[in-house]
Formats: sequence, C-alpha cells, structure tokens
Amino acid sequence: MATIFDKILSGEIPCEEVFSDEKCLAFKDITPQAPTHILIIPRKPIPSLKDIKKEDQELLGHLLLKSTEVANAAGLENWRTVINTGEEAGQTVFHLHIHIIGGRKLNWPPG
Ligand code: AMP
Repeated sequence: MATIFDKILSGEIPCEEVFSDEKCLAFKDITPQAPTHILIIPRKPIPSLKDIKKEDQELLGHLLLKSTEVANAAGLENWRTVINTGEEAGQTVFHLHIHIIGGRKLNWPPG
C-alpha cells in the first residue's frame, strides 16, 4: 500500500529535501521533535525493520552511513538515531525510515 513517503519519493507531495541519491532520500520531518529532525528513507518500499531481508544488508548499511553524513551536514555533534518498528513502538508511517534528532539535550529512556 502506498504511504505518504511513497508520495514524497514520487514527487506527488513536496518535502524539504536535505539529501538525495539513487538509494535514499533525506528530508525534514514535518513535525520536528527537536531543532533538527530529519528523516532518511530508502527508495525501496520496505515497510519496517520487520520486513528486511538478507538482500537489504548493503542498503541498510548505506542508510546508516548517510544518516551520519546528514547529521554532520546539519552541524550536529550529538544526535539520536531512531527507527520505530511497529505501532506500539510509535511507528505511524509504514515505509522504513530513520529519524535523526538533535540540537537539544535528549532524555533517556524515551517514553
Ligand atoms: P514514525 O512515527 O516513526 O512512523 O515517524 C513518522 C514521521 O513522519 C513523523 O515524525 C511525522 O512527523 C513524519 N511525517 C509524516 N508526514 C510527513 C510529511 N509529509 N513530511 C515530512 N515528515 C512527515
């Protein structure tokens, strides 16, 4: 099923893009939870971490590497990298995404 992130990838819905390559897209979260809140998503429509396969290993590594590049480019020295997996864990969009959250002190544990 097409999610809002598929529509962002296809250009049907606009986003504030911060990075793009052939495998992924990074853009600003529309409801930021901190001064910097960026999402990085694969172009491949994987619903969540529950659905990853061995063949996704390189893509997943790519996403993490790019998340650090994006955090660095945003000027972050500390940040939290979050992947909510499943509704009870807070996942609302079922297209895999990494949150990059920073720019303020972050509490632990999360709620
Ligand atoms: P999650 O709750 O982990 O599934 O995260 C989904 C995130 O997508 C939330 O932080 C939303 O604020 C964000 N979001 C939803 N729609 C958009 C949109 N159109 N553009 C940017 N971010 C969005």
